[in-house]
Amino acid sequence: MPELPEVETICRGVRPHLLGKKFCHFWHSGKQLRHTVPTVVIKQQILGQNVSKVTRRAKYLLVHFDNGALLAFHFGMTGNLGIFSPKYQRATHCHLVFTLDDNQELRYTDTRRFGAVECIGKDEAPFLEKIFFAKTGPEPFSEEFNATYLFNTAKNKKLAIKPFLMDNRVVAGIGNIYANEALFSSGISPHHQVSALSKKQWHTLITEIRKVLDKAINCGGSTISDYVNAAQQPGYFQMHFNVYGRRGEPCPCCGVALKKTEIRGRASYFCPKCQR
Ligand SMILES: [Zn+2]
Repeated sequence: MPELPEVETICRGVRPHLLGKKFCHFWHSGKQLRHTVPTVVIKQQILGQNVSKVTRRAKYLLVHFDNGALLAFHFGMTGNLGIFSPKYQRATHCHLVFTLDDNQELRYTDTRRFGAVECIGKDEAPFLEKIFFAKTGPEPFSEEFNATYLFNTAKNKKLAIKPFLMDNRVVAGIGNIYANEALFSSGISPHHQVSALSKKQWHTLITEIRKVLDKAINCGGSTISDYVNAAQQPGYFQMHFNVYGRRGEPCPCCGVALKKTEIRGRASYFCPKCQR
């Protein structure tokens, strides 16, 4: 499943191919994605418009147009976007094709069709954060995501740190893998009560979350060319994980066997010695 680093990688991959380009034509396979594809709105709002920005918010990739409208892609389980020459045959599970004025095609493929595309019209776009992202917390790389914010958000809550970190209302886009990895590098047990964490611990955790995400983005960055040109298949990269998926293996720091437990139904891997 694409997490924040994968979406960021796709975003960085397609951005240079889209900036300043005009969207000239739109094709839809007719298949339903997670929601109905807003074909009419897409044609009204973005055809004939130039791309002004390509950004990411949480796990959404946003294509902004000169008239203020935007397209929001969510990749679900198996979604992917890529830039292709029209000569290159469309994949079986290609569901959306946007033809650009340089004749290249932005194609959305999705085998399981849990992804979605939304078109936010120019009238709604200024209220994007208030409507579309009303329940989404700050970005992990933003200034708002700081120790004071986390300390205050957590202080009266009875909750383990791991599900807290995975709550999209607290911080955007941290999934299971990166929550496990960031807690390990911070030396904090996934069971630790959020209200008992000090500001210093929150500070460490923020630093480690950013490091883990950066590492994953950089790892994906080296495979960007594959995203854009090749296989038309979800090519989500596998990076090396310290604890995720490693039950019973020796901790990379102390050598003690790593443990696995379930916290709120999600697999949690940790070192019983290094994480307190
Ligand atoms: Zn250890």
